[in-house]
Order: sequence, then C-alpha cells, then structure tokens
Amino acid sequence: MNVSWDWNDWNQQFRNRIQTLEELKKHIHVSAEEEAAIKRSEGIYRWAVTPYYASLMDPNDPNCPIRKQAIPSSNEFIKYDYSDVDPVGDTKYRVTNRVVHKYPDRIIMLITDTCPVYCRHCTRKYHTTDLDGTYFGDNEVQTFEDDFKYIEDHPEIRDVLLTGGDPLTYSDRKLEKIIGRLRSIPHVEIIRIGSRYPVLLPQRITKEFCEMLEKYHPIWLNTHFNHPKEVTEESARAVDLLLRHGIPVQNQSVLLKGINDDLDTMKELLHELVKIRVRPYYLYHCDNVTGVSHFMTSLEKGIEIMKGLVGYTTGFATPNYIITTINGKIPIPIETIIDYNEDGLVLKSYENKETILPYLTPEGAVEVK
Ligand SMILES: *Cc1c(COP(=O)(O)O)cnc(C)c1O
Ligand code: SF4
Repeated sequence: MNVSWDWNDWNQQFRNRIQTLEELKKHIHVSAEEEAAIKRSEGIYRWAVTPYYASLMDPNDPNCPIRKQAIPSSNEFIKYDYSDVDPVGDTKYRVTNRVVHKYPDRIIMLITDTCPVYCRHCTRKYHTTDLDGTYFGDNEVQTFEDDFKYIEDHPEIRDVLLTGGDPLTYSDRKLEKIIGRLRSIPHVEIIRIGSRYPVLLPQRITKEFCEMLEKYHPIWLNTHFNHPKEVTEESARAVDLLLRHGIPVQNQSVLLKGINDDLDTMKELLHELVKIRVRPYYLYHCDNVTGVSHFMTSLEKGIEIMKGLVGYTTGFATPNYIITTINGKIPIPIETIIDYNEDGLVLKSYENKETILPYLTPEGAVEVK
C-alpha cells in the first residue's frame, strides 16, 4: 500500500492505525458480517489495526486468520454458559492497582490497557478491549510507586512480568523508568516483558529500544504469534534484534478455533518460529472469556494436536499445553502411562508402541547375581 508517512517508523504506524470502517475498506473487502459487527461494536468494544498487521490480511477472504484476530465479529455479543469477564482471576489476585500476585515467587504488573491491535480473543478483553471496564480505576495516570512498594515489601518476588495491555505501547523513556526502578529492588532477579509488538507492529523493536533493555539484564521477552502468516521478514528482524541484545524470545500462542486449531497449521507455526529462533513456550487453551467463547476448541482437540507434535517434531519446538484456572496454570499432559503392575511400568510411545519397563528406578531394581 502507498502511504504518505514513514512505514518503518513505529510511532507513525501507531498513529495511523485503522479505526474506522471507511479506513478499513481501503485495505480489504469488508464483508457484510464484519461491517455489521464493527457497527455493533461502537460504544461496546474497542478495535484498532496497525497498517502493518492489515497488510497481512487476505483482502478477499473473511476467514483469513489475521482478519479473524483483529476485526470484530458478531460472535463477541453472544454470551455463552459459564463465560466470565475474568475467568482466570486477575481481579481476585490483584494486590495493588497494577500488581497481580497469584503465584508464590512471581507477579505480573498490568502497566497499561492499550495495545497496537485489539486482539478479539484477548484473555484480558475486559481490561483491554471491552469499553465497559478496565481493571484500573481512575488513577491509571498516577505514579507506580504503590506497585513498586508492594514488590519491595515482598522479598519472595524474584520474577516480575510486565504486561497489560501491551507495555511496549509506552515510550522507551517511560519503560526505562519502570524497568530501572524494578532493577533497584535487589530481590527482583528477572524481568520479563509480555508483548505482541513483534507480531502486530514489529517496527517498535528498534536498536535504541534494545540497547536500553540491555542495560537491565536479565530481561526476557514473551510474545504471541498464533499463525504462520504472522512470521514475516519484519517480525524476524525484530526478533533477531532482541536476540542480538541478549533478550531470549519465547512464544505463547492461544489455541483458537478456525485460526490455528489444526495440526498442520500449528506445526507450521512452530517450525516457522524456531526458524527465526523463537522458542515455543506455551500453547494456551482458550479461556471462556465473555466475548471470546466462540474461539474455544474442545480440550480433546488440543490434546490431539499435542499428540501430533510430541515425538514428531523437535523437542524444543513443542510448547506446553496449558489451561488457566482461578488456581493457576495447569499443564495438560498427554497420557503416556498405561499401567503399573507386577511386570513393571507400561508406557505408550508417541507412535502408540507399548513399552514395558520392568522397573522404574534403581530403588525397585533387583541386583543380578
Ligand atoms: C502467567 C502468569 C504468570 C507467569 O507464569 P509462568 O508460568 O511463570 O510463565 C505470573 N502471574 C500471573 C498472574 C500469570 O497469569
Ligand atoms: S496485544 Fe495482548 S493484551 Fe493486547 S489485545 Fe492482544 S492479546 Fe490482549
């Protein structure tokens, strides 16, 4: 697309985000369904798409996985059984305006509610996309001192994850203030950033930004690719820059109906990720978030996909399949133990071959005379 501004300048990408139907129509053939959903979203859900992310859309296919992640759908207005605006309990575990302390040694800090693209499937839809509510009160613009103080007062916190919304929406200067302040707390060992910028607006990852981060190591970054179409030259460049500055990049996907819920797509995504040296970390089962339920697959579907990955592809290309509950993230294992009887341990291999191990550990082994 021909534009009158600098495509590679992230601020300009952000400022020129598509937020109206008229603007979107310049990029794709908007379907009647999409048009109706966009109109219906007004005053209910936010939506925005970076010109970069729109450039990945198939202009003629409403089922395009990029379109489905970024353009409102009428399904968002259906309320499904048991859905909740906060099924994972952010609000339950929230201890300050921005800190969610759910696990013993690590916390998340929700430092913003703004994102370059409002993903339709966001787990924090209530916080980011839903105009009805945000976890923040009116004091969002106020200082973060209460949050830092909480971390300071809790020496068990060794891992701080900056998330949101998308933390990279802030300027480098503001981020440096936050990260520098966290680094002044001796017991904070690692700082993690959760950001979808490498996928939605990869131009955000600049040399200056990486050089700033590098001063505060160890810094880790977890991003969120969901489909192989998202792995582009631009995102590869962003990842490469992060890696060259010593920031490991890992990926957390969400299993999404009609987007990546088939083995071939998932495998291709994982292979594309390891090609650009992104380590697949988690595959989240889609949470039953109000307005997101239509993206849920069955748990069986997720297990079936995992069964097609384990053993069939590189070990480190295989994510952990996770279901998030009010009591934390729970890994969903593939059943491999068939029996444990007098013959020993009966195991099933990835190809369903039965293996009998007569003993499990040296403790149970019998010495040969
Ligand atoms: C996901 C999450 C974390 C980090 O969990 P890891 O399994 O260590 O990646 C920490 N706190 C909250 C509230 C989370 O949701
Ligand atoms: S970038 Fe992350 S926080 Fe923002 S809408 Fe997308 S999934 Fe949600």
